[in-house]
Amino acid sequence: MYSPTAKLNGLSLDAMPPVTRSMSRLQGDTSPPPIVDYESSLESEESESDWSETDEDSLTIKSPTRIIYRLDNLTQGQRDVVRDTFNCPLQISLQRCRHVDNTYAFQMTELVNRSIRLHRDGERTILVCSCAGDVNETTACSHILWLLDQILDQTLYDHDRREPVRLNQRGFADEMGDLFERISKHHIDILAADLHCPLIREDADFRIDAARILEARELLASIHAEDPDTFRPDIFDSPSQGTKVIKRHDIDRTIFRMLLDNNNFFQYFRSLSRPGDPIRDVFRKLSQRVDRVLDKLDAGGTDGSKTTEWATHHIRGCVSSIRCAVFDRDQPLPFSEAHAAAAALVHILSAVVTRHPRASSHVSGQGRNLYMSLVGERDIDFVVGVLSLLPEAACHFLYDLEALLEQVETYGAPVSYVTKFRTLIASLRGLRPESRPKRANDVTASGRRSKRMK
Ligand SMILES: [Zn+2]
Repeated sequence: MYSPTAKLNGLSLDAMPPVTRSMSRLQGDTSPPPIVDYESSLESEESESDWSETDEDSLTIKSPTRIIYRLDNLTQGQRDVVRDTFNCPLQISLQRCRHVDNTYAFQMTELVNRSIRLHRDGERTILVCSCAGDVNETTACSHILWLLDQILDQTLYDHDRREPVRLNQRGFADEMGDLFERISKHHIDILAADLHCPLIREDADFRIDAARILEARELLASIHAEDPDTFRPDIFDSPSQGTKVIKRHDIDRTIFRMLLDNNNFFQYFRSLSRPGDPIRDVFRKLSQRVDRVLDKLDAGGTDGSKTTEWATHHIRGCVSSIRCAVFDRDQPLPFSEAHAAAAALVHILSAVVTRHPRASSHVSGQGRNLYMSLVGERDIDFVVGVLSLLPEAACHFLYDLEALLEQVETYGAPVSYVTKFRTLIASLRGLRPESRPKRANDVTASGRRSKRMK
């Protein structure tokens, strides 16, 4: 028997608020479900609105191709199947067809939605996947394995990736600890952005996902070989979804809207990007995570969970992940990646230092606490330790580092830290790169890297 809720597009999180029909539909768009098959829905702008008109008692039904079928020849059960199929069409695309001897063959792929819940029950976290009701504590389905691998990848700080983790029978590594606690400590908004997974909020309107906008810009800028931070400001500075995906005479804007509208298209586009593209730059991504954490910290929160301690956990974790990505490897790091790592580190240090109240008037009291916990109170070798191991790349950021040292000396830091920082600067001055780029080419005023090194 077909169950309409089980095969909807979107995540079909059936006990959640009624956004189940499609998580790809964005704010203010209350039109019927979007995609029947890719071609027809994109080509025919009016076709979505009226094919699903039907009622349970009618003995006719209009199919997605707009053919009207009489059902009076069918049993009640057969009518239900047809109604479910035509009212909630499967997401099928034909792949290829063939004629061999006395056989015609059609191959298709069907997009099937699954949802996994991590439910807190007292001390335990219960894992349930929609693929089967009989998944028990000792059997993990492939969806759970896949999802928890993704989550571990994003939440694992301080781990040498060459070292194995131990997979348990529930489908995740022992290193995860309690799953619910892990996500709770990390925060779902930060995790969702790094998983490229729009987050639905119950307490707010369904806004366009900021992380998706950023990554759509990175994808499109890569095609044009342009700087993603300045690419097409007319599209990206105050983006709107619009009511129609197709934007005539503007292919970039059209693709941007497709990337917002369709997760599969976004994942497909992203999967084709090259290792050197901004969207695949692990250091850039860690740097963006720190930006998100600091934005949340600055904004405060109604539940008081965005604390300095939470931000410190992430910032130290991201710096540690950068160190692991640079040094825990069998091959030496190519210069372009070392440069990206140094850029991310300088950006992170700058973001922390400029949150000191004496550097900026708009920052909350949390900014001072953050500076104190990472730089001011104790010498944890914050950023400077990793940069000193990347001198060839770090020397391209000498101007920025000199300015940051000056600020650190003004705001105060342990003597040992200031000494290390001065030693780093002195060693970088000695390197004098032949074509040391001007400051503007390395890091913008906000500390964000704006140009890749050739
Ligand atoms: Zn499953």
